[in-house]
Amino acid sequence: MLHSQTAVHLRFLLNSSRKASQPFLGNQSHGLFEGQSAPATLGSVRLRHSRVSNTFDIRTMEKLEELGDITRLSDHVVRVLGQNPGKFTLQGTNTYIIGSQNPYILIDTGEGLPAYTPILNNALEGLANPTQPDVSDVVLSHWHHDHVGGLPAVLNLLKERWESRNPGQTYTPPRLHKHPFKEDAIGAHHTEHNQLPKVLEKTNPELFTPPPNGGPFHDLADGQTFKDPVNGATLLRVLHTPGHTADSICLYIPQDRALYTADTVLGHGTAVFEDLASYLSSLNKMLHFGSASSLHIHTEKDIDLEYVSLYPAHGAIVSEGRETISTYIKHRLEREDQILAVIKSPVPAELLGEVSSTPSEDDNLWTTWTIVRVLYKAYPENLWLPAARGVDLHLRKLESDGLVKRQGGEGVKTKWRLLSSRNSPNL
Ligand SMILES: [Zn+2]
Repeated sequence: MLHSQTAVHLRFLLNSSRKASQPFLGNQSHGLFEGQSAPATLGSVRLRHSRVSNTFDIRTMEKLEELGDITRLSDHVVRVLGQNPGKFTLQGTNTYIIGSQNPYILIDTGEGLPAYTPILNNALEGLANPTQPDVSDVVLSHWHHDHVGGLPAVLNLLKERWESRNPGQTYTPPRLHKHPFKEDAIGAHHTEHNQLPKVLEKTNPELFTPPPNGGPFHDLADGQTFKDPVNGATLLRVLHTPGHTADSICLYIPQDRALYTADTVLGHGTAVFEDLASYLSSLNKMLHFGSASSLHIHTEKDIDLEYVSLYPAHGAIVSEGRETISTYIKHRLEREDQILAVIKSPVPAELLGEVSSTPSEDDNLWTTWTIVRVLYKAYPENLWLPAARGVDLHLRKLESDGLVKRQGGEGVKTKWRLLSSRNSPNL
């Protein structure tokens, strides 16, 4: 997730060494802060920033199980922790080494903290084939900094490792892969939060193998596979799953019957997203990926695509993969139903004119803010503004579903008219 500008979020930061401009992944296990960044400009409503208890955040941290720095998950997968734990990154970013033998595929590079490189170095020790490079391909799950920031250091390490065991030999540096942004994609990748261009500036172009078109990245495509160079078996299959960000991917790992979910589904709590409509359809795509029900027939091929567990980019393995994805979808649809139920009811007298000093006929319409006040009335007032971002994302989706329409106003003062009393279309 992107770092929020709000004081509320800042106060919750447990990792105080972060720079305020850095993007974050969020863990919104309590379901309040469901949006991506909640810009302070969301509305001009001023909140009383009274004392904020961070009790439940600390509790969230305490509940997290400890993950080893280097953990072999299977014959084909080793997880290496990014050494960047925090409220928004949980135990830190999980990077994964994929393959039965080098050259391996590396998924993500961590945030760029110096402590990560020696640990990755240790994880790559004891290779079966010293005459081959350690890594042939680096796959980036999405543009957020805690996944791409380590790229320059990782590429340096890989070159150093090659030179130390094959001095004077020609080095074939790894290819870099990322899903491209569609031109009209919604998201904060357009903003200064996207530090990937700066990371690439710091990356020595001789340390990776560029695609023929000259760009740094080989563009990932939905359905693309990576094969094991040793035996030709499929190691990874790409699923484009936009929503958390426009370029987010998942990777199916057939040998492990696992789905790497990046930040779309986390090891703990629920994930944040930039675009709810695409997020929900991605969850649905993941849920039905490879299942017989999505293909209407059951063939051997379907069984090949089955997965059981999830390997998230933050947190522990999720053993009940499809159940967890279903829960994520249910949680979002429940929130949507709650918002619709509020809009279908009349605005309570005490909230009429709440955000307008000049009464008009539109005063009987719900605003984003009055919806938040009703939905979150049991929660402290200083959590309402971050919550408003999530409600706003839901309202945008309801608008694109044709159920509500905005009637002027800006930010949290945006007014909403109910267009249809039917429920939102089921996914
Ligand atoms: Zn992310």
